[in-house]
Amino acid sequence: MSTAVNNLPILNKESKHFGDPVVIVGGGPAGLATALMLAQRGWTNITILEKRPSADYYEPDKSYNFSIDGRGQKIMEFLGLIEELAKIGVSRSVLCITQIESDGSRKTTQSPISDPNRKISYVLSRKAFLKFLSQEIEQKWGASIKVLFNTKCVEIQKIVRETEEEKISIVASLDNGNVIKFEPNFLIGCDGINSIVRQSLLEWDNSDKFEMKYFPSPSTGLRYKVLTLPPNFPLERNGNYIAVHNQFYSINGAISERKKALFLALFPSQNPEEPRSAIIVKPPDHKVWGLKNKEQVYDYLETVFPQLPIRQIVSPLEAERFATSEGGKFPPPQYCSQSHFILGSEPSFTAGILLIGDAIHSFPPDIGQGVNAALEDVYVLNKALSQSHDALFIALPLYESLRSSETKALVRLAQISSPWQYNQAPFRKRLWNINFLFRLKLSQWLPFIFSPPAVFLLQNHRLSYSEIWQKVKRTTQNLYLFGLASALAVLTLVLKIFSINIINIK
Ligand SMILES: Cc1cc2nc3c(=O)[nH]c(=O)nc-3n(C[C@H](O)[C@H](O)[C@H](O)COP(=O)(O)OP(=O)(O)OC[C@H]3O[C@@H](n4cnc5c(N)ncnc54)[C@H](O)[C@@H]3O)c2cc1C
Repeated sequence: MSTAVNNLPILNKESKHFGDPVVIVGGGPAGLATALMLAQRGWTNITILEKRPSADYYEPDKSYNFSIDGRGQKIMEFLGLIEELAKIGVSRSVLCITQIESDGSRKTTQSPISDPNRKISYVLSRKAFLKFLSQEIEQKWGASIKVLFNTKCVEIQKIVRETEEEKISIVASLDNGNVIKFEPNFLIGCDGINSIVRQSLLEWDNSDKFEMKYFPSPSTGLRYKVLTLPPNFPLERNGNYIAVHNQFYSINGAISERKKALFLALFPSQNPEEPRSAIIVKPPDHKVWGLKNKEQVYDYLETVFPQLPIRQIVSPLEAERFATSEGGKFPPPQYCSQSHFILGSEPSFTAGILLIGDAIHSFPPDIGQGVNAALEDVYVLNKALSQSHDALFIALPLYESLRSSETKALVRLAQISSPWQYNQAPFRKRLWNINFLFRLKLSQWLPFIFSPPAVFLLQNHRLSYSEIWQKVKRTTQNLYLFGLASALAVLTLVLKIFSINIINIK
């Protein structure tokens, strides 16, 4: 149950590097958390470049929810933010969902995939989480961290000075057309799946180490759009059943053909004023993507969800926005094998570059680990910095050695853990459900031979991703052996009966 990381001693000493200029590209969860971690360690000259206009800028198709679990909470604990997180998030120890059928009937159930021993996780919208981290920066760390919004990193170069030292030069463009230049000693790429930092490293490095390695997954290529609904709205046409802000709902559509069936999953929110968002995920050829204008959206949703007063709860503006939005597509699970780059070598070390979060590992949101893995990256970076007195030429390779096997295991887990949940292939989903229940039951009867399914194990934050991956692989091998042994036993029995019959006939 332990990881190498947990055994590292934490050294909290003053470091001569604390005043070195740091640039973080990307003010998403990874970027803001990294800045807070560095400031808390003592670093004083941190700049975040973020192309969006503000931390809580409304991006309709990014208004999904996070569930910050035990992995994500480790860095929040270091930052002293757990109590605040517990106040703004809906705490989720077990997963209770109220299902509302198309005939209006409803029932509340507890999900069978909840591990009762899991650490309580906190559900909140991406927007609320980013606002929370950004307020922490403004209120406590304004002297050490500058966040530049509307500022897009457009170029990263390696330059050679007259002293023959190599340095990093960054160009960022502002909304008004002006540009700013930076020459940091520490550049951190927290700029998501299409990271310009990683792309620059790919160009500088002559190997394929910064190239993303792609892995297939049944959920790759599915399209999604988010439908934004009012904070509190009626869940039935003629009644007073109103959505409660901190409850989880799954609203099932009327179309019975399973591949076409739609459902709206409404995540809970602690804030009674926050709009509710429902993410719709379907294959690219689904009818919902062909809706061209608000009337088509209304007509279609009224047919699919006859239990809901659609025109009352979806504003004309939102219906039009939904119709015209491009939405997004789930990416293939992917990672790149190298996460750091160093310019110069000690004693002439000049700068270090590191990739964190989606910039280095990305996958469809099937397992809800994107933000947690990004926050765990920050936690591990903190450990590596502690181990090295914040000397980057030691800390960055150490970070990579601690994290790379985790990244690989995480991406493999993303491939297999829960990719059929979107009903894109109902038969495969049924097979997946059987496999899930089979593993769960076997792990209860013979826990020393079989482990629970991956999606269950992922809830245990004490297990590292590589430990989970090993358990899953071992269980698969044991299932094959079990299957082979059972087949041999049946064959032996059949042969025995057959030979007894032959003897009797003789
Ligand atoms: C539809 C969907 C649903 C998801 N659901 C979940 C979920 O339920 N649970 C979960 O854990 N994860 C989920 N994820 C994944 C999760 O959003 C990411 O894993 C997480 O946000 C990674 O954080 P990050 O900071 O590394 O990258 P990002 O969140 O992508 O942030 C990158 C930031 O960098 C900025 N940026 C990019 N390029 C530049 C540039 N050149 N200059 C300046 N700024 C730049 C961007 O504006 C952005 O703010 C979901 C993702 C999607 C698409």
